[in-house]
Amino acid sequence: MKQLTVSSLNRVMKCRPSAPGVLPSAREESSEAAQNGTAVHAYLDACIKIGREQALEQCSERWPDMEPTFAAIDLSQIPAGQPDKFQSELAFAIEMVSGDVQIIDPHDESHHYIPPDAVGHWLYGTADVVGVGEDHVLVYDYKTGRAPLGMASNSWQLKALAYAAATVYGKGKAIVALIRIIPDRPPVYYSAEFDAFELAKIGHDLRELSAYLRRQKTSSEMIYAPGDHCRYCPALRFCTANLLTVAALSAGNIPGDIPELLAPELAGRAWSNIKLLEEYIERAKTTLKHIAESTPLILPNGTHLAAVEQIRESVDAEIAREVLLGMDFEDAARTAVESVLKTSKDAIKKALREEGLKGKPLTEAYEEALRRIRVRGGATESAFSKLTEIELKDAP
Ligand code: SF4
Repeated sequence: MKQLTVSSLNRVMKCRPSAPGVLPSAREESSEAAQNGTAVHAYLDACIKIGREQALEQCSERWPDMEPTFAAIDLSQIPAGQPDKFQSELAFAIEMVSGDVQIIDPHDESHHYIPPDAVGHWLYGTADVVGVGEDHVLVYDYKTGRAPLGMASNSWQLKALAYAAATVYGKGKAIVALIRIIPDRPPVYYSAEFDAFELAKIGHDLRELSAYLRRQKTSSEMIYAPGDHCRYCPALRFCTANLLTVAALSAGNIPGDIPELLAPELAGRAWSNIKLLEEYIERAKTTLKHIAESTPLILPNGTHLAAVEQIRESVDAEIAREVLLGMDFEDAARTAVESVLKTSKDAIKKALREEGLKGKPLTEAYEEALRRIRVRGGATESAFSKLTEIELKDAP
């Protein structure tokens, strides 16, 4: 059975049945993005422990493809560039019933899952960076992906690590931050502060979670809360909330025709059920999308439903307007960029078309405008996955 760790705490606090041991769980697959994240974390850890030059040499030897990424990280504004002030990769074990905290060796086998009732109920977590001030602790967590991070004050990963560090070092305040690391860009800090009252409340909530997880649960206590957090839930394939929805729809009891004449009372009832049905279908689609992201689904027609990664590029409106003006497309600059300073690649192309350009000149002007916008840092790429029906030979 898996340990309860702070990295799953955001999901577990929203949906308690998703905690390890409550439902069966599937093996978690490690994605390429997760592996790259591990490499960047190891590099930033090594920067604090052995300095940038040696860290670059050592980590590039282990992950040769990642060398340009390591080299492009600006260390000047993050703890990894200040080894004298911070400790890195500090692993904690929080005993949730008593609230005691220990610093542990994360490689020590004895810390691999201990059943809750035997010697306490442990929550494990490693802080990327910890600093100790006169009256407070600093706890930082590096984030290397582009997924939305949410507010640091709502992060249960940071809350638990803040509680752990403040308890170990006997401080009544914790300053925490999620630090988004994107190579070639300045780091972005999402910060929050927890005072003594908030730290005590975190300890109370962990105790309460432990009590829920340790007792025999009645069916009325199995309250599922489906949402975006289901995506990485190891119990997704065993979760009643999602399975019932998918099972109902896979039964395929959907009438082929809608009768032209419906009794008024049936029509009224049907109308009131439509909203419910729409939510039902949305939830089923989300569940199937999460499953298809790791294993393509075989469809009855022999094709596969797979999550195919796509890149979306968004354009900064101010830079786009300046570029179009610089290219003497005054009307296009006005049309493409709305008064609320919003634009998109489609809006730019449409505006150039309205300037009278078409065919090759339109393509050339559009490509040139995009090139200039990108050079000025006015384009941002974000990755997303889209469910796509593909032929068997193309299945990932
Ligand atoms: S799949 Fe979603 S609803 Fe089901 S247990 Fe996991 S987090 Fe909860």
